Amino acid sequence: MFSSLKAQLAVIFSVILGLLFWQQYMAYKSQELLTEELSNSEVLARKMISVKTLEKDVIDLQRNVLIYKENRSNSIINRFIVIMTSINQKLADIKLYVDNSSINKNQSNAIESMQMHLTSYQENFDTVVNVLTLRDKILNDGILKHVMELQDDLSKILNTQENENANYQHYSKLLLLTHQLQLSIYEYKFISNIENKAKFNSALKQVESILARLDSSELAHSQLEHAQLAQHVKSISSGFFKYSQVTQNYFYLVNVVMSGSANEFLYLTQKLSAEAQSHLNQNKTALNTHIKQAKLQSSAIFIVSVFLALIIILVVIKQLIVPIQKITKAIDMLAADETLEEEFTSTRNDEIGHLIRSANIFNNKNIKTTQLLIESQQLNERLGIETQRAEQAAKAKSMFIANMSHEIRTPMNGIIGLVNLLKQKALPTETLDYLDKISYSSNILMSVINDILDFSKIDAGKMEIENIPFSPANAFENVIGGLSIKALEKQLNIRCYMPPNLPKKLIGDEVRLSQILLNLGNNAIKFTNTGSVSFIINWQYAQTNEQAEPSILLTIEIVDTGIGISEEQQEHIFDDFTQADGSTSRNYGGTGLGLSISKKLVTLMDGDIDINSTPAQGSTFKVCLPFDIATNEPITEPLSVNFGSVCLWDIEAEKNGNKSSNNINLMAQYFTDIHVVDESLIERFIEQQESKFNKNDMLLIFTNNSLNEQQKYIVSTLLETGISMAICTDINAQQLTTNLNTLGIKNIIHHPFHPVQFHKFITGMHAPRVMEKRFKDMPTNDISPEENRYKGHILLVEDNKINQLVAGSMLSNFGLSYDVAEDGEQAVTKLQNNPEYDLVFMDVQMPVLDGYGATIKLRESGFKDLIICGLSANAMRSDFERAKEVGMNDYLTKPIDKDEVELILQKYLTRQSI
Ligand code: ADP
Repeated sequence: MFSSLKAQLAVIFSVILGLLFWQQYMAYKSQELLTEELSNSEVLARKMISVKTLEKDVIDLQRNVLIYKENRSNSIINRFIVIMTSINQKLADIKLYVDNSSINKNQSNAIESMQMHLTSYQENFDTVVNVLTLRDKILNDGILKHVMELQDDLSKILNTQENENANYQHYSKLLLLTHQLQLSIYEYKFISNIENKAKFNSALKQVESILARLDSSELAHSQLEHAQLAQHVKSISSGFFKYSQVTQNYFYLVNVVMSGSANEFLYLTQKLSAEAQSHLNQNKTALNTHIKQAKLQSSAIFIVSVFLALIIILVVIKQLIVPIQKITKAIDMLAADETLEEEFTSTRNDEIGHLIRSANIFNNKNIKTTQLLIESQQLNERLGIETQRAEQAAKAKSMFIANMSHEIRTPMNGIIGLVNLLKQKALPTETLDYLDKISYSSNILMSVINDILDFSKIDAGKMEIENIPFSPANAFENVIGGLSIKALEKQLNIRCYMPPNLPKKLIGDEVRLSQILLNLGNNAIKFTNTGSVSFIINWQYAQTNEQAEPSILLTIEIVDTGIGISEEQQEHIFDDFTQADGSTSRNYGGTGLGLSISKKLVTLMDGDIDINSTPAQGSTFKVCLPFDIATNEPITEPLSVNFGSVCLWDIEAEKNGNKSSNNINLMAQYFTDIHVVDESLIERFIEQQESKFNKNDMLLIFTNNSLNEQQKYIVSTLLETGISMAICTDINAQQLTTNLNTLGIKNIIHHPFHPVQFHKFITGMHAPRVMEKRFKDMPTNDISPEENRYKGHILLVEDNKINQLVAGSMLSNFGLSYDVAEDGEQAVTKLQNNPEYDLVFMDVQMPVLDGYGATIKLRESGFKDLIICGLSANAMRSDFERAKEVGMNDYLTKPIDKDEVELILQKYLTRQSI
């Protein structure tokens, strides 16, 4: 019904809130009712007390009436009035309460009647006051006054009578009787009963009878006096009659009327009190009933609340807690990658239902993931096995390729060696031409094989990087020298910009550095048809911590003006077997391995290689390599020339209208003081015959083309003055060289040259000779000149016949005699039979006994000082180490290079005296 947990909780909270409100409302209502009942009861109780005091007030009234009867004090009257007012107020108050309450309406009538009674009581009291005043007046003026006068008269009469007189007796009795009369009057006054009234009447009768007797007697004093006495008696009699009547009325009023009113009033008061009491009782009962009801209500609410709370708790437990516990357990299990055993579903539409379904989905996914995991584990295992197999296969392949390359290199060495030997023979030109072609093709094949061998070595992880001291200037000279020949063939200019302060010796792998430079240089020449190829060398100290060896970062930029490489092609240019486009190999040949090998080598040497190229404009390959410094001196000292000034005349730049040129910039690095001159300036010097040139001065001319007549004239004129003059040309200016020679200029230096070569050139100018070194690597007759012949008898240990021939011929060329041994065993026997060998060239891979084994045997059998130089087609570091270990003095890699052989000969043999 409630599709969300929020709604369910809202309902539960609403019910709880409702319960609370209900309970609070009921408690409030009960309290209100109780308060009302209590306040009613309180009012009623107060009224009750009022009613009760009414009784006391009425009794008080009566007491006041009685007191008043006795002393007739005004204060009593006042007190009566106060009590009256109080009673009236109370009655009015009670009546108001009764009229406004639920008390029986008869009570209101009763109160009215009480008010009436009170009014009549008041009136009666007023009458009593008047009656008592009247009674006193009658007593004093109507009775006692006459009694006094009578007594006075009687006394007067007696005073006039003789004691013995009979009348005297009567009159004295009469006087006595008046006293009795007076006494009875007072007695009646105080006790107004019949006895005292009878006493008065009896005394009065005796008085009257005596008077009557005296009237009839002559003894009477006088008629007048007797009439006066009779009058007094009469007044006393009528006065007393009035007095007794008033007194009777008074008593009736007080004892009957007033006390009746008071009693009636008291009766009504008691009734009212009883009624109030009963009302109070009713109230009390109602209050008790309410209290009971409130108790019952709160108990009922409590029970209902507890019941509802129980229901809510049950609902919460069933609807929320149990499912949440179930979900939590399920999620814990899922988090622990366990699978739920029971089906986990719900038809609920709320969040719990969603959660349960999500957990179910999670569970299903978990099951799937576990399955996938198991599958992927199985796959991984299979993959691992396959990878292992593939790696083994790749390794085997690399090893196979390495072995194959090696196997191919050995006969190739033979072919190249033999061809070189043949080329030295006097053969027809056509045959020599064929031989050149065979030599060229063989060299290409050899370089391809070398690439494949290197590639396989790197791939098989067998390529090791050397860390030995080398001269960077020599390395560059060798590489650039070799490349110059190719550049010359294509009429390309090749230049080398090397800073003179480059450290003299670095520590690193010269062979691999040269290989990288050769690869990049070869490519630059291969893919450039016109223009130039420049090697721009720079260096900087590398940032190392202070303890570490000082090291540098060498940067070589190989800049060509060739066909360039597009941006897309640049992305894959360093990949294995990749050429920029399909037509490359057709047009230029190559395997697509050079750059990939270079990249791998640079990486192995902890360096970096980068390319920047624009199609049809050229390419720049930038190689950065770190090297430790072996000798921190610069490759060349600053040129301290014996000349006066160094004047630079750049004819090429002048032609193009440039003041500054690469040549001049380069010279600025070599000389501290240079003067740039041009044709017109030199002409002016000559014409004015005050030549600026001294004999010590030097003029360095930069040109690539034949000089025109004017330039020739200038040169000859200046030569006559005896100043030093040198010409700097590009590599392809061979024709120019001849022309300049005929002009008499001997000091000619060709690009590319590095600072050491330039330094040598300048310092050697006083013994002028043409710098031909650039061409020393050009194919020439291989027979060594006289100064390169050595004394000695050599043992050549080599199993391959062709290599025997090539190496043997090389040794003969150096003027050496040699014997051949075909394996290690033969070599050991030969040496033991004839120990007169000055040097042994020992191939390391041979049948029967290899070169290492033979060396060990020889050293063990006492040939401690014998010079043994190992020969191997493997250029691996481990081979060098092995050679050292077994006791070889030196080690050469095949194909054997004439210069390297000579270095060995120089080291261990003496030259033949010329
Ligand atoms: P290869 O030269 O044997 O084909 P490389 O790995 O040395 O193989 O060169 C790969 C390709 O890169 C070349 O085939 C060529 O297309 C391109 N390339 C290399 N160097 C240059 C360059 N200096 N100028 C133009 N293209 C170049």
